[in-house]
Amino acid sequence: MRHGATEEEIQRVVGVIREMGYQARPMPGAQRTAVGLVGNDGRVDSSRLEGLPGVQEVIHVSRPYKQVSREWKPENTVVRLPGGVTVGGTDVVVIAGPCSVESERQIIEAARIVREAGAVILRGGAFKPRTSPYSFQGLGRPALKLLARARDETGLLVCTEAMDAEGVGWVTEIADIIQIGARNMQNFSLLRAAGRAGKPVLLKRGISATITELLLSAEYLLAEGNQDVILCERGVRGFDTMTRNLFDLSAIPVVQKLSHLPIIADPSHGTGLRDKVIPMARAAVAAGADGVMIEVHPNPDEAKSDGAQSLFPDQFAQLMREVRVIAEVIGRRIAEPAPVGA
Ligand code: PEP
Ligand code: MN
Repeated sequence: MRHGATEEEIQRVVGVIREMGYQARPMPGAQRTAVGLVGNDGRVDSSRLEGLPGVQEVIHVSRPYKQVSREWKPENTVVRLPGGVTVGGTDVVVIAGPCSVESERQIIEAARIVREAGAVILRGGAFKPRTSPYSFQGLGRPALKLLARARDETGLLVCTEAMDAEGVGWVTEIADIIQIGARNMQNFSLLRAAGRAGKPVLLKRGISATITELLLSAEYLLAEGNQDVILCERGVRGFDTMTRNLFDLSAIPVVQKLSHLPIIADPSHGTGLRDKVIPMARAAVAAGADGVMIEVHPNPDEAKSDGAQSLFPDQFAQLMREVRVIAEVIGRRIAEPAPVGA
């Protein structure tokens, strides 16, 4: 709509879109309001809209995904979390913690370690998607309580995975961010449930998913009304076995061009080896990632999952010192944890 278009003019456009058989999504912006049209399968004849009072231009979104595209919303989405933490703005967030929640002692200790080094969000799986049914599957619902306790102790926010639509309900009760894992990127009923959960979602790229497929999965979340979506590059299956996955750093600027959604990097799953995690975490911040997710364990040799890619506490503290400098060089800063007790 034109700058200064009246509410009546906006509502008229909404009405015409509905008459045409589509849904209308008014989106007030800093300069002007846009009205999104969804529900079409193919090109829309926009001639009825073009002449309406207050309409400045009709933009046809050329991508298969719509609401996640920059054509739909040119300015970056900033996901606002409790305590003033933002993802997608100037701050670069660090999410850190063990692969799995293993015990109360382990998760509280891990939370203290990563908080001390400067992380703002604690990660840790209660429900683990494991390749083998005989591997540790996570502690399940009791682990969610332990994560809540770790948050109470440290003030960190909590990010944890929901593996199915049923789990979304449990995870939503305690998590600040619902993680959708790589193996579930195209679990569409899970995406729809997470899209309705009312909490921000961290969507990880599938093991062999293209960037277009990642963005289409994000579209499911936005289509359910959830705008608070953070994408995550975590490596894709490559042909070389030297690393666990092929960490696709170029996905960061590619996604940032195509979408307004924030994107973070997970070099832990991206490389699978702790001595490779450190340089690739630095590189991800330099490449403009809105955050990094790092597996850190108080005692990686005893980890029940992903020990080989988990950093030792002192390695993580050193990495934090390094990424602070790198962020500054590109005009950003690493999000600082709120003072304890604040
Ligand atoms: C995880 O974050 O521990 C995890 C299982 O990651 P991914 O879904 O990327 O494999
Ligand atoms: Mn893991």
